[in-house]
Amino acid sequence: MTKTYRTRKRTVEALAPITLTLKPDEFTTIIGTSGCGKSTLLHIVAGLEQPSGGRVEIKGTPVVGPGRDRGMVFQSYTLFPWLHVQANVEFALRDTPLSKKERSDRAREYLDLVGIADFGTAMPAQLSGGMRQRVAIARALSYRPSVLLMDEPFGALDAQTRQEMQELLLQVWEAHRLNVLFVTHDIDEAIFLSDRIIMLTGRPGRVKLDVRPQIPRPRTVDVLTSPEMMTQKAELLTALREESQHRWRPQ
Ligand code: ADP
Ligand code: MG
Repeated sequence: MTKTYRTRKRTVEALAPITLTLKPDEFTTIIGTSGCGKSTLLHIVAGLEQPSGGRVEIKGTPVVGPGRDRGMVFQSYTLFPWLHVQANVEFALRDTPLSKKERSDRAREYLDLVGIADFGTAMPAQLSGGMRQRVAIARALSYRPSVLLMDEPFGALDAQTRQEMQELLLQVWEAHRLNVLFVTHDIDEAIFLSDRIIMLTGRPGRVKLDVRPQIPRPRTVDVLTSPEMMTQKAELLTALREESQHRWRPQ
C-alpha cells in the first residue's frame, strides 16, 4: 500500500509502496525516525485512514474501517474520563452479543489479566499513567481481537513504569499469542518485545530493515544486557543513524 496526504497547500508522501505479511502469532514492531510514517501505517491497518493505493487484509478480508478484529492502544489516554475503569472496558463490549452479566465478567477477567482487578470502580483521573495504559490494554483485548495495534503506548511513561509495562505486555502476549503490531522509536523496547522488527526509512517510509532478534523466550529484563541484545542493537542503531542523517542533508 501507499499513502500520500494531500492538503490544499501541500502534498506529503508519507508511505512509499510497502508490502508486508504478518504471521498470526507474531509480535512485530515498526521502528523508524520521527515522521517516517509509522503512525500512518498503523492508522491504515486500524481502518482510521484510507491508503492512497493498495489495501490491508486481515485473514483475507479487506479492511474498510475500524473493527473488533483489531484492538488499539495509543499513546494518548483514550479512556472516557466520566466512566469508571470497569465501565470503560464494558463500554467497548456494548455492541457485542454478550449479556450485561457477561460483559461485566469479561471486563473483570481482562482487568485481572493486566493486574488491576481491584481498581474497577476507580475513575481514570485517579490512576497513574501506567495504570491507565493497563486499562487501555484490558479494553483492547476484551473483545478478543486477532490483531492488537499499539502506537507508542508507553511513550509518555517514566522509564521504570515503561519497563514494567513492557514486561506486563510480554506476559500477556506469551499467554495469548495474538498478532501484535507495535510502533515505537525506542530500539531497546523493540528488541525486548519483538519476534520481528521492521525499520522504515525516512519519509516516505519504505522497508529499510526486516530483522528477527535471536533472543529466546520467555524474556526477562536480563536479556537487556545479553550479547544477542547488544549485537541486534548495534545493527539497528547504525541503520537508524543513517536515516536521521539523510533527513538533515540538503535536498
Ligand atoms: P511517525 O508516526 O513515524 O512519526 P506519521 O505517520 O505521523 O509519522 O507522519 C508521517 C508524515 O505524514 C509526516 O510528515 C506527517 O507530517 C505527515 N502527516 C501525518 N498525518 C497527516 C495528515 N493528516 N495530513 C497531512 N500530513 C500528515
Ligand atoms: Mg507517530
